[in-house]
Amino acid sequence: MKSAILFSLLTVTCFLYSNAQSVSPATDGLFRLYSDSASLTRDAAPMVADFNNRVNRIRPEPDFNVGFIVYTTPAMVYYAPKSKNVVTSLYHELTDDHKAFFNTYSDNEEDARLFFAVFFNGFYIAHELGHGLVAAYSLSDPEAMYREEYDVNMIAMNYWNSVGKADELEKCYKFAKAFLAKVPDPVPQGTEDRIAWFNEHYWELGPQPEKYGYFQFSQFVDIYENQKRVHIDEYLETYISQLEERAKQKINTNEE
Ligand SMILES: [Zn+2]
Repeated sequence: MKSAILFSLLTVTCFLYSNAQSVSPATDGLFRLYSDSASLTRDAAPMVADFNNRVNRIRPEPDFNVGFIVYTTPAMVYYAPKSKNVVTSLYHELTDDHKAFFNTYSDNEEDARLFFAVFFNGFYIAHELGHGLVAAYSLSDPEAMYREEYDVNMIAMNYWNSVGKADELEKCYKFAKAFLAKVPDPVPQGTEDRIAWFNEHYWELGPQPEKYGYFQFSQFVDIYENQKRVHIDEYLETYISQLEERAKQKINTNEE
C-alpha cells in the first residue's frame, strides 16, 4: 500500500514536471471559451509576443510586430493588415446565425462553444499571425489564396505543436472531422482543378460558413493527417527564406 502511494505520488510529480516542461508559459491558456475580452487578451498577448520574437530572432529586419485585439465581427477571426492586428471574437457576442452554425455541427451546446473556442480562441490566432508574416513581405495575392491559407495552416499546426498544444490540436481535429462528415463538398462535380476553383471563388466563399469551413477544415485535416510536424523555429526559418525568394522574384518580374 505504502509503495503504491509512493508510486502514485512519483507519477503525479513526473506528470506535473513533464507538463511544466512541454507547455511554454507564453502559451498557457487559450483553446477555451472566454467570457470577456480582457481575459482573452491577457492569455493571447504573451503568445503573440512569443510568435513575434521567434520571427525576429530569425530575421531582425523587418521588425515583425503584430498586435492582438478582441472585436467580434461576422468574419470571426482575421488579420487586419493596416493596423497589423490579429482580430478575434467572443462566442457569446456572435450573431444567432453564427451560433447556430456551431450548434449544427456539434452534439450539444457545450460542444458548440468548444468547437468555436478551440479554433477561434486558439488555433486561428497562430494562423492569422501567419497571414501577418506573408503581409510583411507584401506577398499576399488575393487571386491565389489557397496556397497562402495552406501555408498559414502549416505555420499554426507547427507552432501549437511546438509549444505543447498537441492535445488541443487533437480536439480541433475531432471537430473538423465531425464537420466534414456532415457538410457536402462545395466544389461542383467534374471540377478538375480544385485549387483553381477555390482561388476563383475565395472572396465569395468567405461569408458562407459551410463552404468556407469546408475548405479550411479540409486543409486542417489534410495537414494533421499527412504532414510531418516540424519545430516552429525550423519551419519559420525555411518559410521566411521562401518568402524572401518570392519577394525577390516579384521585384525582378516587375522590373522586366
Ligand atoms: Zn486564413
